Amino acid sequence: MHAMVMNKIGGPLLWTELPDRQPGPGEIRLKIRACGVCRTDLHVLDGELPDERVPIIPGHEIVGRVDAIGSGVDSLQIGQRVGVPWLGHTCGVCPYCAEQRENLCDRPLFTGYTRDGGFATAVIADAHFAFPLGDEGEDIALAPLLCAGLIGWRSLVMAGGAQRLGLYGFGAAAHIIAQVARWQDRKVYAFTKPDDLAAQTFARELGAIWAGSSDQAPPEPLDAAIIFAPLGALVPLALKAVRKGGRVVCAGIHMSDIPSFPYASLWEERELLSVANLTRQDGLDFLALAPKIGIVTRTTSYPLAQANEALADLRAGRFEGAAVLVP
Ligand SMILES: [Zn+2]
Ligand SMILES: [Zn+2]
Repeated sequence: MHAMVMNKIGGPLLWTELPDRQPGPGEIRLKIRACGVCRTDLHVLDGELPDERVPIIPGHEIVGRVDAIGSGVDSLQIGQRVGVPWLGHTCGVCPYCAEQRENLCDRPLFTGYTRDGGFATAVIADAHFAFPLGDEGEDIALAPLLCAGLIGWRSLVMAGGAQRLGLYGFGAAAHIIAQVARWQDRKVYAFTKPDDLAAQTFARELGAIWAGSSDQAPPEPLDAAIIFAPLGALVPLALKAVRKGGRVVCAGIHMSDIPSFPYASLWEERELLSVANLTRQDGLDFLALAPKIGIVTRTTSYPLAQANEALADLRAGRFEGAAVLVP
Protein backbone atom coordinates (compact mmCIF):
# COMPACT_ATOMS: atom_id res chain seq x y z
CA MET A 1 0.00 0.00 0.00
CA HIS A 2 1.28 3.43 -0.96
CA ALA A 3 0.06 6.58 0.70
CA MET A 4 0.63 10.30 1.12
CA VAL A 5 1.23 10.63 4.85
CA MET A 6 1.34 13.83 6.83
CA ASN A 7 4.02 13.35 9.46
CA LYS A 8 3.69 16.40 11.61
CA ILE A 9 1.43 19.41 11.91
CA GLY A 10 2.24 21.81 9.15
CA GLY A 11 4.55 19.29 7.49
CA PRO A 12 4.38 18.29 3.84
CA LEU A 13 2.68 15.16 2.64
CA LEU A 14 5.26 12.44 2.11
CA TRP A 15 4.96 9.61 -0.37
CA THR A 16 5.63 6.34 1.45
CA GLU A 17 5.05 2.63 1.29
CA LEU A 18 2.98 1.19 4.14
CA PRO A 19 2.57 -2.41 5.28
CA ASP A 20 -0.70 -3.94 4.09
CA ARG A 21 -3.14 -4.62 6.88
CA GLN A 22 -6.07 -7.02 6.89
CA PRO A 23 -9.44 -5.61 7.96
CA GLY A 24 -10.42 -6.41 11.55
CA PRO A 25 -13.90 -7.31 12.84
CA GLY A 26 -16.53 -5.00 11.35
CA GLU A 27 -14.04 -3.51 8.89
CA ILE A 28 -13.52 -3.63 5.14
CA ARG A 29 -10.48 -2.86 3.01
CA LEU A 30 -10.94 -0.89 -0.18
CA LYS A 31 -8.77 -0.67 -3.21
CA ILE A 32 -9.08 3.07 -3.84
CA ARG A 33 -10.15 4.25 -7.29
CA ALA A 34 -10.45 7.98 -6.58
CA CYS A 35 -10.31 10.35 -3.63
CA GLY A 36 -11.50 13.95 -3.68
CA VAL A 37 -9.46 16.80 -2.22
CA CYS A 38 -11.37 18.98 0.21
CA ARG A 39 -10.60 22.28 1.93
CA THR A 40 -10.72 20.34 5.21
CA ASP A 41 -7.58 18.50 4.03
CA LEU A 42 -5.86 21.89 3.99
CA HIS A 43 -7.08 22.59 7.54
CA VAL A 44 -5.66 19.19 8.60
CA LEU A 45 -2.37 19.92 6.86
CA ASP A 46 -2.18 23.38 8.42
CA GLY A 47 -2.88 22.06 11.93
CA GLU A 48 -6.01 24.20 12.27
CA LEU A 49 -8.21 21.47 13.78
CA PRO A 50 -8.01 20.25 17.40
CA ASP A 51 -6.94 16.76 18.49
CA GLU A 52 -5.57 15.75 15.12
CA ARG A 53 -3.92 12.35 14.94
CA VAL A 54 -0.42 12.38 13.42
CA PRO A 55 0.95 10.81 11.40
CA ILE A 56 -2.24 10.68 9.35
CA ILE A 57 -3.22 9.86 5.78
CA PRO A 58 -5.65 12.65 4.75
CA GLY A 59 -8.60 12.28 2.37
CA HIS A 60 -12.29 11.70 3.09
CA GLU A 61 -14.02 11.57 -0.30
CA ILE A 62 -13.10 7.99 -1.13
CA VAL A 63 -14.48 5.84 -3.94
CA GLY A 64 -13.16 2.30 -4.00
CA ARG A 65 -13.88 -1.38 -4.47
CA VAL A 66 -14.06 -3.77 -1.53
CA ASP A 67 -11.09 -6.13 -1.71
CA ALA A 68 -11.10 -7.69 1.77
CA ILE A 69 -13.80 -8.12 4.40
CA GLY A 70 -13.37 -8.56 8.16
CA SER A 71 -15.40 -10.87 10.35
CA GLY A 72 -18.99 -9.93 11.10
CA VAL A 73 -19.54 -7.91 7.90
CA ASP A 74 -22.39 -9.31 5.85
CA SER A 75 -23.75 -6.16 4.21
CA LEU A 76 -20.97 -5.75 1.60
CA GLN A 77 -19.32 -8.02 -0.94
CA ILE A 78 -15.89 -8.34 -2.49
CA GLY A 79 -15.72 -6.19 -5.64
CA GLN A 80 -18.59 -3.92 -4.63
CA ARG A 81 -18.08 -0.18 -5.19
CA VAL A 82 -18.52 1.92 -2.07
CA GLY A 83 -17.88 5.47 -0.89
CA VAL A 84 -16.25 6.37 2.42
CA PRO A 85 -17.07 9.81 3.81
CA TRP A 86 -15.75 12.09 6.57
CA LEU A 87 -17.79 10.40 9.31
CA GLY A 88 -15.73 7.27 9.87
CA HIS A 89 -17.17 5.88 13.10
CA THR A 90 -19.52 6.81 15.94
CA CYS A 91 -19.89 5.35 19.42
CA GLY A 92 -23.59 4.53 19.09
CA VAL A 93 -24.32 5.09 22.78
CA CYS A 94 -23.71 8.76 23.65
CA PRO A 95 -26.72 11.12 24.02
CA TYR A 96 -26.17 12.49 20.50
CA CYS A 97 -26.03 9.07 18.88
CA ALA A 98 -29.13 8.10 20.89
CA GLU A 99 -31.14 11.00 19.50
CA GLN A 100 -30.20 10.53 15.82
CA ARG A 101 -27.62 13.32 15.89
CA GLU A 102 -24.60 11.11 15.33
CA ASN A 103 -22.89 13.96 13.49
CA LEU A 104 -22.31 15.39 17.00
CA CYS A 105 -21.14 12.08 18.56
CA ASP A 106 -18.97 12.46 21.67
CA ARG A 107 -16.48 9.79 20.55
CA PRO A 108 -16.37 9.86 16.74
CA LEU A 109 -13.63 9.01 14.28
CA PHE A 110 -13.22 11.11 11.16
CA THR A 111 -11.71 9.77 7.96
CA GLY A 112 -8.46 11.50 7.04
CA TYR A 113 -8.31 13.34 10.38
CA THR A 114 -8.45 10.87 13.27
CA ARG A 115 -8.40 7.67 11.20
CA ASP A 116 -6.41 7.08 8.03
CA GLY A 117 -8.06 8.29 4.84
CA GLY A 118 -7.92 8.07 1.10
CA PHE A 119 -4.72 9.72 -0.15
CA ALA A 120 -3.54 6.14 -0.63
CA THR A 121 -3.90 3.06 -2.79
CA ALA A 122 -5.97 1.27 -0.11
CA VAL A 123 -7.87 2.10 3.07
CA ILE A 124 -9.44 0.22 5.96
CA ALA A 125 -12.93 1.50 6.81
CA ASP A 126 -15.70 0.71 9.28
CA ALA A 127 -18.19 -1.23 7.15
CA HIS A 128 -21.13 0.56 8.79
CA PHE A 129 -19.84 3.90 7.52
CA ALA A 130 -19.37 2.96 3.87
CA PHE A 131 -22.09 3.76 1.33
CA PRO A 132 -22.81 1.37 -1.56
CA LEU A 133 -22.49 3.47 -4.75
CA GLY A 134 -23.80 1.11 -7.42
CA ASP A 135 -22.13 0.97 -10.81
CA GLU A 136 -23.57 4.11 -12.46
CA GLY A 137 -21.15 7.00 -12.90
CA GLU A 138 -17.39 7.42 -13.05
CA ASP A 139 -15.29 7.02 -9.91
CA ILE A 140 -13.72 10.46 -10.36
CA ALA A 141 -17.09 12.15 -10.86
CA LEU A 142 -18.58 10.55 -7.74
CA ALA A 143 -15.72 11.32 -5.33
CA PRO A 144 -16.66 14.98 -4.68
CA LEU A 145 -20.17 13.90 -3.69
CA LEU A 146 -18.74 12.19 -0.60
CA CYS A 147 -18.00 15.45 1.24
CA ALA A 148 -18.61 18.53 -0.88
CA GLY A 149 -21.93 16.96 -1.82
CA LEU A 150 -22.86 15.48 1.57
CA ILE A 151 -21.92 18.39 3.81
CA GLY A 152 -23.33 20.75 1.21
CA TRP A 153 -26.58 18.79 1.27
CA ARG A 154 -26.81 18.94 5.06
CA SER A 155 -26.18 22.70 4.85
CA LEU A 156 -28.88 23.10 2.22
CA VAL A 157 -31.39 21.23 4.40
CA MET A 158 -30.40 23.49 7.32
CA ALA A 159 -31.09 26.52 5.13
CA GLY A 160 -34.76 25.52 5.15
CA GLY A 161 -37.20 26.33 2.37
CA ALA A 162 -35.38 29.46 1.20
CA GLN A 163 -36.39 30.46 -2.33
CA ARG A 164 -33.64 33.03 -2.73
CA LEU A 165 -30.47 31.25 -1.65
CA GLY A 166 -27.03 32.82 -1.42
CA LEU A 167 -23.86 30.69 -1.71
CA TYR A 168 -20.68 32.32 -0.40
CA GLY A 169 -17.56 30.71 -1.87
CA PHE A 170 -18.17 28.96 -5.18
CA GLY A 171 -15.90 25.92 -4.92
CA ALA A 172 -16.49 22.17 -4.81
CA ALA A 173 -19.48 22.21 -2.46
CA ALA A 174 -21.28 25.20 -3.97
CA HIS A 175 -20.95 23.89 -7.53
CA ILE A 176 -22.81 20.73 -6.46
CA ILE A 177 -25.35 22.42 -4.22
CA ALA A 178 -26.19 25.04 -6.86
CA GLN A 179 -27.35 22.16 -9.07
CA VAL A 180 -29.46 20.67 -6.28
CA ALA A 181 -30.98 24.07 -5.45
CA ARG A 182 -31.86 24.73 -9.10
CA TRP A 183 -33.45 21.28 -9.35
CA GLN A 184 -35.53 22.27 -6.31
CA ASP A 185 -36.58 25.44 -8.15
CA ARG A 186 -34.73 27.83 -5.89
CA LYS A 187 -32.98 30.97 -7.11
CA VAL A 188 -29.23 30.83 -6.55
CA TYR A 189 -27.07 33.90 -5.88
CA ALA A 190 -23.33 33.14 -6.01
CA PHE A 191 -20.75 35.20 -4.12
CA THR A 192 -17.08 34.75 -4.97
CA LYS A 193 -13.77 36.31 -4.06
CA PRO A 194 -13.78 39.91 -5.35
CA ASP A 195 -13.15 39.90 -9.08
CA ASP A 196 -13.01 36.10 -9.46
CA LEU A 197 -14.73 36.35 -12.81
CA ALA A 198 -13.98 32.72 -13.72
CA ALA A 199 -15.89 31.48 -10.65
CA GLN A 200 -18.74 33.90 -11.38
CA THR A 201 -19.01 32.66 -14.95
CA PHE A 202 -18.92 29.07 -13.69
CA ALA A 203 -21.74 29.84 -11.24
CA ARG A 204 -23.90 31.34 -13.98
CA GLU A 205 -23.27 28.26 -16.16
CA LEU A 206 -24.66 26.17 -13.31
CA GLY A 207 -27.84 28.21 -13.13
CA ALA A 208 -27.10 31.03 -10.68
CA ILE A 209 -29.35 33.98 -11.58
CA TRP A 210 -26.82 36.39 -10.12
CA ALA A 211 -23.08 36.11 -9.45
CA GLY A 212 -20.88 38.77 -7.93
CA SER A 213 -18.24 39.58 -5.36
CA SER A 214 -18.77 38.69 -1.71
CA ASP A 215 -18.54 42.36 -0.73
CA GLN A 216 -21.45 43.22 -3.03
CA ALA A 217 -25.08 43.29 -1.91
CA PRO A 218 -27.37 40.93 -3.82
CA PRO A 219 -29.94 42.59 -6.12
CA GLU A 220 -32.72 41.52 -3.74
CA PRO A 221 -32.66 40.33 -0.11
CA LEU A 222 -31.96 36.63 0.35
CA ASP A 223 -34.09 34.17 2.32
CA ALA A 224 -31.00 32.26 3.42
CA ALA A 225 -27.28 32.06 2.75
CA ILE A 226 -24.74 29.26 3.09
CA ILE A 227 -21.11 30.19 3.71
CA PHE A 228 -18.72 27.61 2.27
CA ALA A 229 -15.57 29.75 2.28
CA PRO A 230 -13.53 29.61 5.54
CA LEU A 231 -13.66 33.38 6.06
CA GLY A 232 -15.27 34.75 9.20
CA ALA A 233 -15.51 38.17 7.55
CA LEU A 234 -18.27 36.74 5.35
CA VAL A 235 -20.61 36.25 8.33
CA PRO A 236 -21.54 39.93 8.82
CA LEU A 237 -21.82 40.35 5.03
CA ALA A 238 -24.18 37.39 4.72
CA LEU A 239 -26.29 38.55 7.68
CA LYS A 240 -26.71 41.90 5.92
CA ALA A 241 -27.71 40.14 2.72
CA VAL A 242 -30.60 38.13 4.26
CA ARG A 243 -34.08 39.49 4.89
CA LYS A 244 -35.87 39.72 8.24
CA GLY A 245 -36.19 36.20 9.67
CA GLY A 246 -33.51 34.98 7.25
CA ARG A 247 -30.89 32.39 8.08
CA VAL A 248 -27.13 32.16 7.59
CA VAL A 249 -25.56 28.69 7.68
CA CYS A 250 -21.80 28.29 8.19
CA ALA A 251 -20.89 25.03 6.45
CA GLY A 252 -17.16 24.78 7.09
CA ILE A 253 -15.30 22.93 9.83
CA HIS A 254 -12.98 25.89 10.36
CA MET A 255 -13.27 29.62 9.82
CA SER A 256 -11.08 32.61 10.53
CA ASP A 257 -12.38 34.78 13.38
CA ILE A 258 -15.67 36.56 12.81
CA PRO A 259 -15.23 40.34 13.06
CA SER A 260 -17.57 42.19 15.40
CA PHE A 261 -20.74 43.50 13.81
CA PRO A 262 -23.66 45.67 14.97
CA TYR A 263 -26.52 43.86 16.65
CA ALA A 264 -28.81 45.39 14.04
CA SER A 265 -27.40 42.88 11.53
CA LEU A 266 -28.78 39.99 13.61
CA TRP A 267 -31.89 41.77 14.89
CA GLU A 268 -35.31 41.00 13.39
CA GLU A 269 -34.99 37.28 14.02
CA ARG A 270 -32.15 36.57 11.65
CA GLU A 271 -30.48 33.28 12.54
CA LEU A 272 -26.85 32.24 12.43
CA LEU A 273 -25.89 28.57 12.76
CA SER A 274 -23.18 26.08 11.87
CA VAL A 275 -23.26 22.64 10.31
CA ALA A 276 -21.01 19.94 11.75
CA ASN A 277 -20.14 16.71 9.93
CA LEU A 278 -22.89 14.47 8.58
CA THR A 279 -25.11 11.62 9.64
CA ARG A 280 -25.33 8.38 7.71
CA GLN A 281 -28.94 9.27 6.94
CA ASP A 282 -27.71 12.48 5.22
CA GLY A 283 -25.53 10.28 3.05
CA LEU A 284 -28.29 7.85 2.17
CA ASP A 285 -30.71 10.70 1.38
CA PHE A 286 -28.27 12.62 -0.80
CA LEU A 287 -26.74 9.68 -2.66
CA ALA A 288 -30.24 8.44 -3.54
CA LEU A 289 -31.17 11.88 -4.86
CA ALA A 290 -27.97 12.68 -6.77
CA PRO A 291 -28.66 10.44 -9.82
CA LYS A 292 -32.24 11.77 -10.08
CA ILE A 293 -30.94 15.34 -10.16
CA GLY A 294 -28.30 14.38 -12.69
CA ILE A 295 -25.55 16.24 -10.86
CA VAL A 296 -22.52 16.80 -13.07
CA THR A 297 -19.33 17.43 -11.10
CA ARG A 298 -16.50 19.49 -12.58
CA THR A 299 -13.27 17.73 -11.63
CA THR A 300 -9.55 18.15 -12.16
CA SER A 301 -7.70 14.88 -11.60
CA TYR A 302 -4.15 14.38 -10.35
CA PRO A 303 -2.07 11.22 -9.88
CA LEU A 304 -1.94 10.29 -6.19
CA ALA A 305 1.77 11.10 -6.02
CA GLN A 306 0.88 14.72 -6.89
CA ALA A 307 -1.33 15.25 -3.84
CA ASN A 308 0.79 18.21 -2.77
CA GLU A 309 0.25 19.90 -6.14
CA ALA A 310 -3.50 19.31 -5.91
CA LEU A 311 -3.60 20.85 -2.43
CA ALA A 312 -1.51 23.83 -3.56
CA ASP A 313 -3.83 24.39 -6.54
CA LEU A 314 -6.86 24.22 -4.23
CA ARG A 315 -5.28 26.74 -1.87
CA ALA A 316 -4.54 29.10 -4.77
CA GLY A 317 -7.94 28.63 -6.42
CA ARG A 318 -6.36 27.40 -9.66
CA PHE A 319 -9.31 25.28 -10.81
CA GLU A 320 -13.13 25.38 -10.79
CA GLY A 321 -15.05 22.60 -9.06
CA ALA A 322 -13.14 19.82 -7.30
CA ALA A 323 -9.72 18.16 -7.41
CA VAL A 324 -9.60 14.36 -7.35
CA LEU A 325 -6.60 12.10 -6.73
CA VAL A 326 -6.31 8.90 -8.72
CA PRO A 327 -3.97 6.12 -7.46
ZN1 LIG B 1 -21.83 8.81 19.98
ZN1 LIG C 1 -14.50 17.58 3.22
